[in-house]
Amino acid sequence: MVWIDTHCHLNAEPFSGKVSQIVDTARKNGVSHILIPAVDTASFTDVHHIAHAIDGCSYALGIHPLYVLQSPESDLDVLAQWVDEKRSDDCFAAIGEIGLDFYLPERCTPAAREKQEYFFCRQLEIARQYDLPVLLHTLRSVDTVLKFLRQYGVKRGIAHAFNGSMQQAQAYIHQGFKISFCGTVTYERAKQRRTLAKELPIDAIVVETDAPDLPPYWKGKRENSPAELPRIAETVAGLRGVSPAYLAEWTSRNAVSAIPRLADRVR
Ligand SMILES: [Zn+2]
Repeated sequence: MVWIDTHCHLNAEPFSGKVSQIVDTARKNGVSHILIPAVDTASFTDVHHIAHAIDGCSYALGIHPLYVLQSPESDLDVLAQWVDEKRSDDCFAAIGEIGLDFYLPERCTPAAREKQEYFFCRQLEIARQYDLPVLLHTLRSVDTVLKFLRQYGVKRGIAHAFNGSMQQAQAYIHQGFKISFCGTVTYERAKQRRTLAKELPIDAIVVETDAPDLPPYWKGKRENSPAELPRIAETVAGLRGVSPAYLAEWTSRNAVSAIPRLADRVR
């Protein structure tokens, strides 16, 4: 039984100096592969380095919506350049983390919205140009993100830490996307996420930790790690009434289908 963590920020500050130890512990727990999204151009070198230095890791390149507001437009050219240079790199798997974040009022002013949407659309164009899947951040922006996916004809990837309705999830699946579940699904009060985890088609779901963020309930406020993935996924298996092994097989298959470049790298 092997699990793929489809979204883990191994380059984040809390893991600094102990990444190989973190990955080692995760592997002992049954996590065979970890996909590391970038968040801004400054993180490109780090995610690339980790994926090459540590077995069982791949990386994505993109500018996260929360980093867009402090990023100059020229960072999009930096991204385009990196993607072009790394397109034959086996460890390079997707464009991400990209999307829109309308959680706080200051992220929703007309100027902030415009900049976020501009960066998102330019990154969708890059994904299209290189035929790469995308890792999506859709906080309070589920419908708007989907509108742009349709407009730019992007049809493959993962909606990470999804918290939309059943109808919205089905629209993403129809667009070709997988819906990803993380530690938030372990909270009993997370009714909507738990309903999705239970009822979405088995071929439409993947799992992730988003570590060091979004810890499952048993971690309290302590930092999350990829080693928690099997237990998070067991919660999903429990909700669906299937065995963890069955869920592991499906979610791994689904992750590869969403991110085809993982196919040769997942064991
Ligand atoms: Zn993330």
